[in-house]
Amino acid sequence: MPSRKRVVSTPRNEKVQPTLERARLNLVRKHEDVTNRRSDWFWKLAHELTNRFDVLCFETLNLKGMQRLWGRLISDLAFGEFLKILEWVATLKGKQVVFIDRWYPSSKTCSNCGHVLKELALEVREWRCPSCQSVNGRDENAAINICAVGASTAKLGDVRQATPAIAV
Ligand SMILES: [Zn+2]
Repeated sequence: MPSRKRVVSTPRNEKVQPTLERARLNLVRKHEDVTNRRSDWFWKLAHELTNRFDVLCFETLNLKGMQRLWGRLISDLAFGEFLKILEWVATLKGKQVVFIDRWYPSSKTCSNCGHVLKELALEVREWRCPSCQSVNGRDENAAINICAVGASTAKLGDVRQATPAIAV
């Protein structure tokens, strides 16, 4: 391959720069494309959610802790970006976005009886409540708790005071 040989043997050859520059621009365009598509999807989702719901509740995740365990995931960063868009759209439409205190134990609290576990390892996806014996799927249980606390917060305005409202 004569052209390849030229590039390798003469790195200062003028043909090297356009090739590298083209590759760099292609990469930049691909990144922009992915970012734009993701952003489009975020805006659509934000509109869809705010059309369907008046109050949206989210847990502010412990991103630093998650990064320590799993590394810096792009989805964590994208989630933050999505929440900013959602807040913007919700404000425009007069809808409410409630953020639950990250220290609220949404995963460790039984959504059926309010019992709070002392420990719950991250890899445990399902657990049986020692108090009421109900079996709780980790994410579903957390979602029910977040919804209950968020609904109380929307009225009471304080996450910590809202906790007893679900501990029936
Ligand atoms: Zn229980």
